[in-house]
Amino acid sequence: MMEVPLTLDVILRRARTVFADREVTSRRDDGALHRTSYGAVAARVDRLIGALHALGVRPGDRVATFAWNHHRHLELYFAIPCAGAVLHTVNVKLAREQIAYIVDHAADRVLFVDRALVPALLAALPDLPQELRFVVMDDEGRGAEAGLPGALDYETLLAQGAPLTAPPVLDERQAAGLCYTSGTTGDPKGVLYSHRAVVLHAFGCGMIDSLGVSQREVVLPVVPMFHVYAWGLPYASALTGARLVLPGSHLTGDALANLIEGERVTFAAGVPTIWNLVLQSLRRQRRDVASLRRIVLGGAPAPRALIEQWQHEFGVPITHAWGMTETSPVGSCTHAGSTWLSPDDPRDLELRSKPGRPVPGLEARIVGDDGGELPWDGVTTGELCVRGPWVARRYYGDGVPQDAFTDDGWFRTGDIATIDPSGAIAITDRKKDLIKSRGEWISSNALENEVLLHPAVLEAAVVARAHDLRDEVPVLFVVARDPAAPPAAADLIAHLAARFPRWQLPRREDVHVVEAIPKTGVGKLDKKLLRQRLRGDGA
Ligand code: AMP
Repeated sequence: MMEVPLTLDVILRRARTVFADREVTSRRDDGALHRTSYGAVAARVDRLIGALHALGVRPGDRVATFAWNHHRHLELYFAIPCAGAVLHTVNVKLAREQIAYIVDHAADRVLFVDRALVPALLAALPDLPQELRFVVMDDEGRGAEAGLPGALDYETLLAQGAPLTAPPVLDERQAAGLCYTSGTTGDPKGVLYSHRAVVLHAFGCGMIDSLGVSQREVVLPVVPMFHVYAWGLPYASALTGARLVLPGSHLTGDALANLIEGERVTFAAGVPTIWNLVLQSLRRQRRDVASLRRIVLGGAPAPRALIEQWQHEFGVPITHAWGMTETSPVGSCTHAGSTWLSPDDPRDLELRSKPGRPVPGLEARIVGDDGGELPWDGVTTGELCVRGPWVARRYYGDGVPQDAFTDDGWFRTGDIATIDPSGAIAITDRKKDLIKSRGEWISSNALENEVLLHPAVLEAAVVARAHDLRDEVPVLFVVARDPAAPPAAADLIAHLAARFPRWQLPRREDVHVVEAIPKTGVGKLDKKLLRQRLRGDGA
């Protein structure tokens, strides 16, 4: 067989030729829509590769982005790896110390930043390496005036860039990208993605029994391009010719609902908290979202109530996906197939409440504390382990603990799960979020899922509080659907008591109705901060 390397220029060539006319739409900062095509993006990528070379970027160098989802970020998604360099997407919501830590750890040479995000970067500036060059992306082409020392303007740079006569020859094993985990314990850890992994992941996302990205879809990645490659959707879309709709910095429920309606989006993806916002917006102001064929919910436990509400109120089926920075990230998702059920069948909801089978190409198993494999009976819980061509082999850099990678080639995810006889995974909890009461485990996810079915509850989070006699007890935080009519603690406990034994229930003094639950930079419930607040050492 031909040894054609699996490198990102293969995806770029396909987008440039076969899908040259397919549209890429971005919401600009001023709210207007910018329309371009894969053909035009590819032509600008060629010039950008030349511009990167002129800036002194060489194969293997790390080049950072600090940006929302838009066409310029898409150009960088291709130009940086196709120039042989490594695309390092920096999470724009990180604290300044974390931004400085990862830019320094990655030894980035150039950083591309959105004009609107310059203030966030300026806060971290004193701690950033002196030699770092800045390029500012500005719709008006005035990035050089944005206030960053020595900054270049993106559009000016691109206008001056000439395509290279001999673009670098890429090896499929060389690094294409670098992302850091959210670092909920200790410093963030870097994961280096090879071209081969990124390309195979894009193929994986296109398979009909996984996410099913295809040219029939209009894809809206709400999941940020600064977080694990927006779940690989930009690459999978370019590979398959899906139309891309990029929301920029406009991430309110109303703005997203408008975009779905206006652009006839068929496929949207993001964390559950975002889809809760969009749902609330649609309840306030009805819009036509009938174009939506599916929403991919992932990155955090997807509440059963949310899956049910989308399905029953708006007729939109949820594909529930699981993944991690270390798995590029898509690892598993709700599976269709011979057992596919009608949306009215209660088993349909059951199926969608689990993130399903591993995506073809990946394998999963659960293990006990001794590392021994546990049965796939849908009941026994153990630590989820995965392996496959887009799962990390180690963390990037020296001095980083590597104990999550086992000698026999598996990655220990830190998630606790069951696997049923059909191979479908159900995540019980993150290991560190489990609550240990007198030696027995309580699942925070299960309590949250149930309390979210209470009609007065909009959002919920359960975390552990240390307890003298019981090791730990669950503490429940809820946001009321109607702030004027908050649910009573006793009522919530009675609701939970219908499904959970007494010892798993929160006490009345451990139920808090709050205005908001803190979220991480990518919109997940920030349980670390909640725990800190409970201990009295949080902000
Ligand atoms: P990150 O690397 O920041 O994307 O976070 C990965 C973690 O998010 C996983 O280890 C899980 O704990 C959590 N996660 C992702 N998807 C799901 C899901 N479908 N259900 C439950 N937890 C999830």
